[in-house]
Parts: sequence; C-alpha cells; structure tokens
Amino acid sequence: MAGRESALYDETLLPLDGPEPGRRYAQVIVDVPAKQTNRPFDYIVPPELEAWVGVGSRVGVPFGPRTLQGFVVGLSESTGMDPRKLKPIEQVLDLVPPLNPELVDLARWMSRTYVCHEITALQAMIPGALKAKYEKYVAVAEEADGHSAPPPEGQALLLAGSPEEDEITAFVRQKGTVPMDAMLRRFPAAGPLLKRMLERGVLVEVQTVKDRLNAKKVLYVEPAADPRTLTEESGKLAAGAKRQKELLLHFAAHPSPVPLAELTDKLNVGAGTVKALADKGWLTIREREVFRDPYAGRSFARTEPLPLTEQQRGAFAAISDALGAERHDVFLLHGVTGSGKTEVYLQSIQQCLDQGREAIVLVPEISLTPQMVERFKSRFGDAVAVMHSRLSQGERYDEWRKIGLKRVSVVIGARSAVFAPFTKLGLIIIDEEHESSYKQEESPKYHAREVAVQRAARHGAVVVLGSATPSLESFARTSGRGAPYRLLTMADRVEGRPLPAVRIVDLREELKAGNRSMFSRGLYKAIEERLHKKEQTVLLLNRRGYSTFVMCRSCGYVVQCPHCDISLTYHQVSRTMRCHYCGLTQPEPKTCPSCDSEHIRFFGTGTQRVEEELGKLFPGIRVIRMDVDTTSEKGAHERLLTKFRNKQGDVLLGTQMVAKGLDFPDVTLVGVIAADTVLHLPDFRAAEKTFQLLTQVAGRAGRHRLPGEVFIQTYTPDHYSIEHASRHDYGAFIATELDSRRQRGYPPYCELVLVTFSHEQVAMVVRAAESFATRLKEKWQRMRTEFDSVSGAGAEDRYFEVYGPVASPIPRIKDRYRFQCMVKYRGDVDVSGMLTETAAAFDETVRQEKLHISIDVNPQVLM
Ligand code: ADP
Ligand code: ZN
Ligand code: ZN
Repeated sequence: MAGRESALYDETLLPLDGPEPGRRYAQVIVDVPAKQTNRPFDYIVPPELEAWVGVGSRVGVPFGPRTLQGFVVGLSESTGMDPRKLKPIEQVLDLVPPLNPELVDLARWMSRTYVCHEITALQAMIPGALKAKYEKYVAVAEEADGHSAPPPEGQALLLAGSPEEDEITAFVRQKGTVPMDAMLRRFPAAGPLLKRMLERGVLVEVQTVKDRLNAKKVLYVEPAADPRTLTEESGKLAAGAKRQKELLLHFAAHPSPVPLAELTDKLNVGAGTVKALADKGWLTIREREVFRDPYAGRSFARTEPLPLTEQQRGAFAAISDALGAERHDVFLLHGVTGSGKTEVYLQSIQQCLDQGREAIVLVPEISLTPQMVERFKSRFGDAVAVMHSRLSQGERYDEWRKIGLKRVSVVIGARSAVFAPFTKLGLIIIDEEHESSYKQEESPKYHAREVAVQRAARHGAVVVLGSATPSLESFARTSGRGAPYRLLTMADRVEGRPLPAVRIVDLREELKAGNRSMFSRGLYKAIEERLHKKEQTVLLLNRRGYSTFVMCRSCGYVVQCPHCDISLTYHQVSRTMRCHYCGLTQPEPKTCPSCDSEHIRFFGTGTQRVEEELGKLFPGIRVIRMDVDTTSEKGAHERLLTKFRNKQGDVLLGTQMVAKGLDFPDVTLVGVIAADTVLHLPDFRAAEKTFQLLTQVAGRAGRHRLPGEVFIQTYTPDHYSIEHASRHDYGAFIATELDSRRQRGYPPYCELVLVTFSHEQVAMVVRAAESFATRLKEKWQRMRTEFDSVSGAGAEDRYFEVYGPVASPIPRIKDRYRFQCMVKYRGDVDVSGMLTETAAAFDETVRQEKLHISIDVNPQVLM
C-alpha cells in the first residue's frame, strides 16, 4: 500500500513512553460526522506501532471498504469485542500526537454540551492543515493484498484482456500504486476501461490518509569536515576557483549550517559552486525541516515590566495569588479603556512562565494587529506563537506545531487558539471578553469563554476575562451566593488621563433646524477643527447589510412589535415589517404612526456614502475607509491601519472594525454617525451591544497626551444605553439592563438554545419544526413529573419553555426555508441531553429528506 511509514519513523525522535502494557487496543473516533459513528470503535494496535500510538494520536484505520482518519480517544489492555473481528490500525499520522488526553476529554464535553458529534469537536481543535485529505490510488489486485508475486503463466493468459488493458496493468504493476488522477492523465481515453477493470477486480482502489500540508523542508549547507581544515583545503583549489575558495573560507569562519538560498544570496555564489564543493566532500547539503515563521526577520525590542499603578497592583495581586497557589479561579477584570489591562496580562503571564507553566491569550481576530502582537513578542520574544486567520495555512500549522514540540510557552490568537495543545496550562486570558466573535457560528458552536473555563478547571489554571464593558452574563457571575467569577476593577486610566468628553447630538433637532446632512453641525465643526490642527478623527458607521429597521427621521419613532418589545425588521422583497420572535407581519408604513411625518423611511447609510459626503464637505480631506469591501484582501486591514498611524489620513472611517483596541496618539475626535443602527437590531442584546460599541469607540480618543472628544449622533438620545455610555457609567447601565432582562426573561436570568430548521419545502420545515417542539415539550412534561415526585433542592428554580416555531429572521437562505424554536430554561435541566434525544428522532428525515437541524446552545446571533 502507499503507506508513508518510512517518513514517519525518524530515529532522532523518541517513541512516546516506550512500549508498555495496556496499549493493545485503541478506541478510535473516525472521521464520519454521523450519529451511527458518534462513538469509539475498537482497533488492534499492531506491536510495531505500540510505541507511537497515544491518546490524542491521529491514525489511519480501515473502516468498511475505506481507510479513514481517526483520533485515538482511549487505549486498553482488553476489548469488549471479539478480538478476531478487529482490524489493526494502519497508519500513525504524526510523530507527536496532535492532541492529548485532556483535549480528548474536552471534546467529549463539547460534544455533550453543544450537541455535536465528537469528531466535529476533535477536528475543531487541530489546524486546517491536519484535516484529512484522502488520496485514491489504483493498484493491481493481487499486489494490493500484499502478494506481489505475478500470477502463474496460465492464469495470466486467462485473465489477459485487450492490449490496452495489458498496457495499463503493466504500468500499474511497475509503479506499485498510482494516484487516480495520474492514471487518467497517463491514459486519458481509458476512463471507461479503467472503470471496468476496477469493477472486475483486476485493479483495486486503495485510499490513504494524507495531510493537506507537510512540514516545510529547506536545503541547508554545512561543512562536512572539521571547519579548521577548510582554510588549508582552500589552498589546494585551482587558482581559477575563486568562488569556491571564498565559500570554504566563509565556512572556516562561520561553520554553522546556512540555508542554501541565503548562502547563494549573501555570498553571491551559484548553487553549482556549492554543489561542486559538496561533490568534493568538503560541504554537506542536507534537507532540514523548518518552521514557516510569519515574524521571521522581525526583531522586537525587549520591553521591561512597567511599575504598576495602584489599581493594576490590586488586580495583579489577586491573579498572582491564585497562580501561586495553582488554584482554578476565574477573574473578570473590568478596566476602563486605557486603564492598562495589557500590562496586568503581561505580568501575570510572566509569573505563569516563571512557574514553568504555559499561557494562552485570546484576542478578537480583528484586534490581533501587529501592534498587539508586538506587545507580547517584545516581552516574551520567541516563546510566543501567534495564530490568526490571516496567516497562510502553512504558517498556522507551523506555529501550532511549535506548541506540541514545546518550543513556545505562550500562544496569542483568535478563538480557536483556546485549543492550543499545552499540557501544563497555567493561565488563559481572554481580552475583550464580551466580543461575540468568541462564539463559533458553525458546528461545533462553542464559546471560547466556556471552553477556556473548562480547560482551566482541568489544569488548576487561572482564567482572566478582561473588558471595559463586560458581558452581562459574565458580570452576573461575579455576584451573589457562590459566584463563580471574581470581579477585579480598574476604574481609572493610567496616569490619570481623563476619559474623553462625550456629546450626544439629537439628530431630530438637526432635521428641524434644516440640516439634512449626515453630519450634525457640532460634528462638522469638530472635524473642521481637527483638519486645521492636523489631529486625527475616527468615524464609526455601523450598518448591517441584510436587514434593518424603519425609523421616523422627524420624531425618532421606530416601528416595534406590539407583543415582543423588539423592533420589526424590514424585508425589502415583500415590503413588509416582521417580528422575528413571534412572526407578526405588517405592511411597511407610509407615514409615521406616532407623528404622521412622511420622513419615515428605510434607514441606512453606507460607508461609501459617508466617504463621498466627507469629500464634498471638506475638499481635499484624506479618508481611509475600512469596511468589508476594503479589507477583504490579505493584509489590507493592517495596511490601512499603518497608513493611518503614519498620518497619511485625516479620517479613519469604518464599521465596528475601527472601534476595537486601536491606540493612535493623535486621535482626538471620535464621531458615531448613527448610534441607533445597533440599538434597533431585533436582538435582546441590542442595548448591551450599543453600550459596548459606544464605550469602545469612545475609548479610542485621547488615549495619550492630547485630550479627546466624542460625538454620538442619534435619534434616541434618551435611551439608557446611549446616556450611560456618554457618561462612561457601566454600573448604571448594567443595573438598568439587568432589570430589563429580568422582566423580559432573557439571559442572564435564563439560558437560551436556538434550534433552526431548514428545508427546500416550506411545508416540510414547518411540519418538522412543529413536531420537534411538541416532542421537546412532552419530554419536559415527563421530566417535570419525575422531578415533582422527588422534589429535591432547586426544584422550584427549574424552568423550561419552548417558544415557536416561527419563521427565522432570514426566512430563506439559498432556496431553503428556515424556521426556528427558542428554548428558554433555568436551573438544573439537562437540556443538551433532551435536545440530543429529540434530534435523534429526526435522523431518518435528516438523512432521507435532507432536512437540516441546527442546535445553537447559548446563541449570540439570533438570526
Ligand atoms: P487597556 O487595554 O486597558 O485599554 P492599555 O493596556 O492599552 O489599556 O494601556 C493604555 C496605555 O497605558 C498604554 O499606552 C500602556 O503602555 C500604558 N500603561 C499601562 N500600564 C502602565 C503603567 N503601569 N505605567 C505607565 N504606563 C502604563
Ligand atoms: Zn414620527
Ligand atoms: Zn413579536
């Protein structure tokens, strides 16, 4: 078979723990995300592989007619199966198992918690480069079985087909195995014939598992002999061999291995010259495995720890104490923008490393700028691996490999870096913990914060959740009896720098005064002033593409659902307004139901329009626009920010991207074009998101010596999220918002699960959704009866309700109709278990009718 064993066993690497008993059978989860395969299968560990197979190994195993990738999730001395029926593991895919027992166990937890297949959870933990790639080969039948002897003469005659067929057989026999596509290239016209030969069993198809990507290899040159002899040897060279002489003298002085490319480049010699010396036996050219390092050649000036401010000291002391005691604690570090959270992170990491443990730092993808990376690299140097989606697949893979090989002890990355396969984890930091990007929107629909807490608990590690605007869920966990999180507060900016002054501008007043531009008079003047003083401005325009709300520009009235306390969504195609919680539909209003004005209209302004208007109002203004259109290219985001930093732009205009973590000394003005765009999203978190966004963006101004000023333009100046944001008053906001959540019955007062159904036929999806809801309700009825009969502690706190089904806010995607149910629950109820069982009843329909059911536990997006 086309195995890759030879490449696998490198004698320089030691086997796991040496052969030992208890490794005879392996329990393997295979790469087939289906209910029937969502359990471990037993395989024999062949003696020659025993030393290489560990819990967390990736292996190739026979499964039915195929070879599949799988993960070893257990090893045992005995098996519950008939050992004679078990098949052996065929391949071990990595020298070092990519996962470890803790992560394997975590995958089991994820599968239960997020109602997904275990393989889906396991796959989420490894970089894309390691996802299985199956390669198909053809081989001559009898040879594929391992009997390479040619058939006896007579039989060969009997089997012989056409001359074309013989030619193919001979070719394959000579090569051993041939990739399918190579076969078709070699014999382009023989497609049907090949198929027949496969059907008749003359040829067989074999499949192997390969990585999508391999370690990068580079040619290195080094002296073959003692470098001290090279000077002497160089004297023996012919006078004309000047280049060869130089090269030998170079190695005499610098004997360490150099990449061939670097050598030819620096010393200006041809590869031929190097080869000639290698042929003479003086130099060696060897292939070496290297890491693709996205930061290669960049040096980071070392920074020393700063003396902490008093507030930083307080926060650090608590974290340090837990670290020192190796106690699992979760801290919520609530620090205003510019309070110096990063320095607290850095010093906590330092302590963790000093204790010989490892740290993970999670940062929202969008904030993972070179500036951010530099802050960590300049403190911890090469001990830091960086993982984000803007790296190439190869770079990501290599950064990740450094973890398994123990080359690094700090990982900084976006959401999936939470799975960094460290074994001595001491600290996990989640910066901007309120960010919704920590939730993965495709299966497994995990939240990095929840996973982090799980992992930390298994390691006795500390979790630090940092934010200027903590999520309500996290904040609620810091108070009350048995609160699982501890609150640390840093209320002031470093060095007593003031938070910027915030002005709320009532856009209704602007309209009344005859100003129809998107810039209020105040903001206009402020921009003009900045242009004059050569200071910089950040403008935020937040707009979602597909749906929006209808608002009256005269009075600020927003069309709401009379039953749900949520703004109705405008659907352009049908020109209707819909509530996506209860399904209410009504026609688009022609005049404002509140003030009769005709200025009621579909609301929304694109960044491009703002850019145009800026150009008209301020001729010559240099605008750097940052939105999905201008940042889709690799590196574009960073290029634009660098341009702004170098003051090649007066205004940075963009969507949420401009609100996060940026730190520019000359930004003294921040303008929010319309604060309402988020506020009226049909989402119970709309007020929270508005408050967070406004606070974050306001935090971009006046972070250094120049004081900052912020303008928030809005049609609803009295809304509490806007008012409190303008006063930087998180405490007041959270009190109001918690109250509102309690009244409406939303998190943190209950938990949510969103179940979405989709199908090409609307009747089918409605039927399935209704039947699902009914089954789930019945299940609860039965459970509640049981609960009542035991009436243990917490019984009165239990609550469970299924809402819907209703049409999803985006009722059709790619010709599939979508309906959803919302489950609200509280207390000790095994909702994941109930959902798993209920979903199992739909397996047939899912398979045969292509019904799709998505279960989102603790959803962040309700669309
Ligand atoms: P946050 O993440 O809380 O918004 P930062 O960590 O970006 O704040 O810190 C804001 C600024 O204060 C940065 O320029 C940082 O270098 C500086 N800073 C942080 N801690 C100290 C300190 N102890 N002494 C002096 N400057 C500090
Ligand atoms: Zn009105
Ligand atoms: Zn409604």
